[in-house]
Amino acid sequence: MDCLFCKIIEGSIPSTKVYESDNVLAFKDISPAAPVHILIIPKKHIATMNDVTAEDDAVMAEIFAAARQIAKEQGIAESGYRLINNVNSDGGQVVYHLHIHLLGGEKLGPLLAAN
Ligand code: 5GP
Ligand code: ZN
Repeated sequence: MDCLFCKIIEGSIPSTKVYESDNVLAFKDISPAAPVHILIIPKKHIATMNDVTAEDDAVMAEIFAAARQIAKEQGIAESGYRLINNVNSDGGQVVYHLHIHLLGGEKLGPLLAAN
């Protein structure tokens, strides 16, 4: 399958990993939008949030558990952070392997800026 994040999981494209388990991987975003910018993904290829099913409950729970742990390890749990999941075209999704952005390390701008 021609999926960038599946290639990162299998290791054919390098990444800076910050968390790994049997079912979940987290690594630094290549083009960080904040001092801390980490992507948390299921190892199973799921294209978008629309494709998540009840079968994925455990891995989705682990993704959020990983987010809490990584935020603590990065020292931003108390200062604060933002979790973002872009879905499809209007949501700004570019890579079609489900991922949660974990952003922090600075005061982030308003989420819903006027456009
Ligand atoms: P999306 O817009 O799909 O929600 O986010 C995709 C994210 O993947 C972007 O923030 C982009 O910087 C990141 N990204 C794209 N290609 C690579 C890559 O090869 N390695 C890493 N670590 N991140 C990538
Ligand atoms: Zn994939």
